[in-house]
Amino acid sequence: MTFNFKSVIELLDHFKDEQTCREFYEQQRWGGSPVCPHCGSTKAPYKTNRGFKCSEKLCAKKFTVTVGTIFEQSHIPLRTWFAAIYLITAHKKGISSVQLSKDLNISQKTAWFLLHRTREMLRNKKPVMLNNNVEIDETYIGGREKNKHANKKTPKDYRTTAEKIKSNAGRSLTDKAVVLGLVERDGKVIAKLVPDARAKHLIPIIEKHVAKGSNMLTDEWYAYGQLHLKGYSHKTIQHNLKIYVQGEVHTNTIENFWSVLKRGLYGIYHYTSKKHLDRYLDEFCARYNTRDLTGAERFEKFLQESESRLSWKDLVNAA
Ligand SMILES: [Zn+2]
Repeated sequence: MTFNFKSVIELLDHFKDEQTCREFYEQQRWGGSPVCPHCGSTKAPYKTNRGFKCSEKLCAKKFTVTVGTIFEQSHIPLRTWFAAIYLITAHKKGISSVQLSKDLNISQKTAWFLLHRTREMLRNKKPVMLNNNVEIDETYIGGREKNKHANKKTPKDYRTTAEKIKSNAGRSLTDKAVVLGLVERDGKVIAKLVPDARAKHLIPIIEKHVAKGSNMLTDEWYAYGQLHLKGYSHKTIQHNLKIYVQGEVHTNTIENFWSVLKRGLYGIYHYTSKKHLDRYLDEFCARYNTRDLTGAERFEKFLQESESRLSWKDLVNAA
């Protein structure tokens, strides 16, 4: 870390122009030795006016530091990108495209695109394995309230208008989403969209992400009854008896994560449809998993993981 900014003003003071941003990003991405994104050559490339030219005769292609990253083919200056990444990762409950467009004086469409590409960057690319005391819980996002267990209902204040109408009208709801959450106490969280809360969907995800022998802490949902057969120690808390903490046995850590997630989804993003829910989950998990870092450290960490790209076409096709 070459500097340690504490606000978006300090960040923009430091990244005063495109050249500064570009050189910083070259250092972050390549550590001073450019790698050709076309052929992977590490042979020192030629300098050009706008970037580099590969020095391998068979390749000889031009490139800049943004090729193959979330910044590729974007008209938005890196300076704006950097400020956006800082703001998006600093706000615990997220930031809406409306707010981001006002903060950075860009169109809402541009802000929306920045948000989506940033979420792509926040996706965990390395497999995460949880250990020790792991709380597991599932929650419902959107959907009819009357079908949920008492402790899974969305707080009334955070229901969208559409949800209020649907919960009253009693119509079937196709856009209800079930999310499985796993959190290691004092460690990382993983949240995954699942088709429903049956064991056949929950257990494989748990086995993939939690080391055998870990202590699993859940409520009494029947699907978790299989955990002791899968090589885990398992304790349940009887939420149906209105017991929420019994010594070390509770699911408060994951409940707190659900609370931040729902405040963000309903309060900031006005969540209405599950088509982008997996990306929102990535965003909230990434922030939770870097909660002990400073804003500047978090910015630098995510910038180093920006080598993935979501094109406008991919986004629209997913919509
Ligand atoms: Zn090359």
